[in-house]
Amino acid sequence: MADRVLTGKTAVVTGSNSGIGLGVAEALAAAGADLVINSFTDTPEDHALAERLAADHGVAVRYIAADMSKPDQCRALVEKAGRCDILVNNAGIQHVAPIPEFPMDKWDAIIAINLSSAFHTTAAALPMMRAAGWGRVINVASAHGLTASPFKSAYVAAKHGVVGLTKVTALEAAGEGITCNAICPGYVLTPIIEKQIPDQMQTHGMTREDVIAKVMLARQPSGQFATVEQIGGTAVFLCSEAAAQVTGTTISVDGGWTAL
Ligand code: NAD
Repeated sequence: MADRVLTGKTAVVTGSNSGIGLGVAEALAAAGADLVINSFTDTPEDHALAERLAADHGVAVRYIAADMSKPDQCRALVEKAGRCDILVNNAGIQHVAPIPEFPMDKWDAIIAINLSSAFHTTAAALPMMRAAGWGRVINVASAHGLTASPFKSAYVAAKHGVVGLTKVTALEAAGEGITCNAICPGYVLTPIIEKQIPDQMQTHGMTREDVIAKVMLARQPSGQFATVEQIGGTAVFLCSEAAAQVTGTTISVDGGWTAL
């Protein structure tokens, strides 16, 4: 417990009962931050996860259910947190289809959860950060916030939007002790990615191993998945004093994808 540099700060992490959000929450708690974790469900497992994180890291952790597809619930999440020094906009979903066949409800849901939620939580959090004279907004974008792939129109549009929102947030808060940056992961083996593997196996007539190596990691020159721990470590860096002048930018954690 030597490097508890975030002791006394409260972090709100959206979509954090799984995957990257949980990895970021673990890393921030290990650095001493109290947590509000979130998803749209409200199960005993969700609250047990909060208790487990609190016990493991010796910090206060609350689970607050809120559906990030609903603007009022996005704002209510931050208001119920009561304090928000670090806001991590992480909740996200995916759907893959060609544009003419892309279901309208999937487009609306992806734009709402992956993009608009970050606007609403940020709107609620900035006044709290200004009152505290310190704040960190971290948006989990994607390599797809900087590049594109076919059949991912809503996701790529939303993630490019998140990168734009990141820049505007940084400019509006510049000089106030508040920074805003986007982490752009390449492929990280989380449930959102696991779910795509069977479809890709069918589409390409490939084994699981071939889909991972020849389809998913084909654009990731390292040939390796990034890990949730690496994304968590990047978030802790962005909260550190070393990153106080890092704002309005993107940090890629993508094994070289966007260097190609
Ligand atoms: P995941 O499916 O494991 O996690 C998504 C999280 O969002 C879950 O906790 C889920 O409960 C939550 N969520 C979904 N809909 C929600 C809603 N309506 N309200 C509140 N919470 C909701 O996926 P992940 O891979 O951990 O993805 C996390 C973020 O990282 C997403 O924004 C995703 O786009 C981004 N990302 C992931 C990868 C990757 O390879 N896994 C790469 C780049 C970016």
